[in-house]
Parts: sequence; structure tokens; C-alpha cells
Amino acid sequence: MLIASPTGSSICANCIEQARQIVKDEHSDSDVGFSAYASLDEIPKPTEIKAHLDTYVIGQEQAKRAVSVAVYNHYKRIMVQSDVDDVDLEKSNILLMGPTGTGKTLMARALADFLDVPFAIADATVLTEAGYVGEDVENILVRLLQSADYDVAATEAGIIYVDEIDKISRRSANASITRDVSGEGVQQALLKILEGTVAQVPPKGGRKHPEQPLVSINTKNILFIVGGAFEGIGDIIARRRKKTMLGFSKFDEEESRLKGADLLQVVEPEDLLQYGLIPELIGRLPVIAALEELSRKALRSILLEPRNALVKQYRKMFDLEGVELIFEDDALDAIIDIAQKYGTGARALRRSVEKVMLDIMYDVPTHKNLKRCTISKAVVTDKATPTLEY
Ligand code: ADP
Repeated sequence: MLIASPTGSSICANCIEQARQIVKDEHSDSDVGFSAYASLDEIPKPTEIKAHLDTYVIGQEQAKRAVSVAVYNHYKRIMVQSDVDDVDLEKSNILLMGPTGTGKTLMARALADFLDVPFAIADATVLTEAGYVGEDVENILVRLLQSADYDVAATEAGIIYVDEIDKISRRSANASITRDVSGEGVQQALLKILEGTVAQVPPKGGRKHPEQPLVSINTKNILFIVGGAFEGIGDIIARRRKKTMLGFSKFDEEESRLKGADLLQVVEPEDLLQYGLIPELIGRLPVIAALEELSRKALRSILLEPRNALVKQYRKMFDLEGVELIFEDDALDAIIDIAQKYGTGARALRRSVEKVMLDIMYDVPTHKNLKRCTISKAVVTDKATPTLEY
């Protein structure tokens, strides 16, 4: 096909395709790389980022602030790095510490969603050094590439969340005999893509093999968020604090003993070293944010408030059938009671709500002219039938 221009010359479809490729390659080779934003003013401010996080993530104020600032700085850094040649702005990869089900993954996901950049999640425990059975670290990049629809430039400005980073510490006992026992090799491999490298990845994933053309991805501008529960690190922190405070005459052990999440707030890089992360990796994670165990109040808010809150979702679902769904207050309390027993944070909420709702969802569509369905505490605790009004 020939496409004519108003001046009389024509260009064929093949040439258009070639030209497009040249422009694309040129773009991805350039120093500045892809940027989702055209100017500094367009980058969302930390307050705007946090406001968005607030609509999904309940509580975790400290962590949301830290992450908002880090992300803002990250995209600012990408934007100005071509102008600034005397100062090296370092990448602000983020470490999220906190018990399971407190919103680490959710926060990373909400961020990527807001920024409209490609996003991929990886589980550190299945990663291995090249050559071992398991997943190459580079496969994370493949996933990001896929989420960017194979747009290399967009991939290079994406966000990657690596979960369970604490499980590849040097000291963690490992059940696998095919993997290096220490996890240190995986940390080394991760370090490489974290600090910025040009990785050759097989676009379809899997092992590299000669027949498959590889795609180069520069990881310099990819923001890494790593998360982990770091169980037991509280003891390490407490021990360090005790040691450094012994010199004080008025040292009162009980007084200085911070509990749980408060302890995580005062974590230092040396504690992470003790825990078994390699120093180079710690050095590449300049932002550390701690997430707290969720209180009853927070769990209740999670049920009711976020845009994708479970109660909102079920109400909507019933609404579509013309039925008003009501959860009584003590029914919510009972759901929270059950969830707390699981000890998996907010993750257990979904399970306990779903358990309650299953039979009801099964029955309700067969009731004609139903107007209202009320869930009381007994429905949750004793499987009583909900009150149905026609
Ligand atoms: P983890 O900290 O283990 O990564 P997730 O972020 O995956 O936990 O949380 C699991 C689920 O629990 C989320 O999908 C979300 O629905 C809910 N959740 C956890 N923490 C929060 C929170 N702080 N605010 C709102 N929902 C939360």
C-alpha cells in the first residue's frame, strides 16, 4: 500500500514500518529513556500520590508517606538525569517491612495503577541463580515486559514488586536441595538488576536458548519495591538497641523495649545485615518503610472504606439484583474476630466474608421480589439464616 502526502511524494507500508522501528529503537537507546511524564510539573506530587494510596490502603501512614516521596523522587530523577551531570541521583528502591496481609503488595499495586506504568510481582522464594532449577531472576523482567505489552521503553520505567525478600536471607533454612542453600546467590542476582544493568531476556520467558532472540532491557530506571515480613527481626533490633544503650546509667530495659511495629520503625541497615541480607543489596534499598499489624479498627475500615472494600463489593452485587444488603455492626465484629484468628492480617477478611456469603449468594437469586437482606451476628457465628424482607 502506498500512502501519498499532499506534496506529491508517497511512502509504502514497509517503509513506514521500518521508520517506526528506527524511531522506536532510537527512543529506547536514548539516555533519558521512556518517561511517563513530559515535565517536572506533570509528575504527581507526594501528597497526590499519598491521596491515591489512601483510597486503597487503610492506615500505614508512615509507609505511605515514605513510598510517596520515594516514587516522586524516582520519576523526578528519571526526568532530570540528562541535565544533571555533576550530581548522581541514586535510585530510591524501597524496602517494605511488615507482617503478612498488612498491605505491602496492595501498596505497590496501587502505586503502579496510579502512575500508569507497567507493573510486575515476583516471589523471591522461587527465584534462583542462573543454572539452578527454578526461575531466573531475569524472568521478573520478562513479566514486566509482558505487562508493558512488549514495549521496551515503557518496561524500562516500570515498577517491580519482589515479595518475600526476607526468605532469601543468608541464614534462612531452605528446603530445596537444587538451589544454593544460602539464598545469597539469588540476592547477588537480584542486586544486579536492582542497581541497573542491561539484561538480555528471552521475551517469551523460560530458559535462554540459542534459537530465541533476546531483548535487551536496561533496568536503570526500573523502580524496585521489595517486601518481607522479617519475622524475628524485632529481637535483632532490640538487642542492638540494648547494646548501644547500656552506657546510659538510667537505662531501663522495660522502658526502652519497643513493641512490634514500633521496633520496625527504628530498623537500621545493620539489623538487616544481621538478618542475612547482603550489604550491597541493603545499600541499594535506601528507603525502608515499616507497615504495622492491623488493628481491629483498621480491619473494620478495610471491610468498609477502600474503593474495592469487600462490603461495598457485595452490596453492589446485591444491588444489581435489586436487593439491599445490610451488615449489622456486630456481624462485622464477628467477621473481624474470625479473621484475627487466622493471623494473616486483612487477607483473612476475604476468606471469612466469603464463607458467610456463600450460602446466601446461592439462595438469594431464587427469591423473587426480595427487597432487603440483613446479616446479623448469628449469621456469621452460627450459620443462622439472614433476615429477608420482601
Ligand atoms: P502483604 O502485606 O502480605 O503483601 P497484601 O497487600 O497482599 O498483603 O494484602 C492482602 C489483601 O488484604 C489485600 O488484597 C487487601 O485486600 C487487604 N489489605 C491488606 N492490608 C490492607 C490495608 N492496609 N488496607 C486495605 N486493605 C488491605
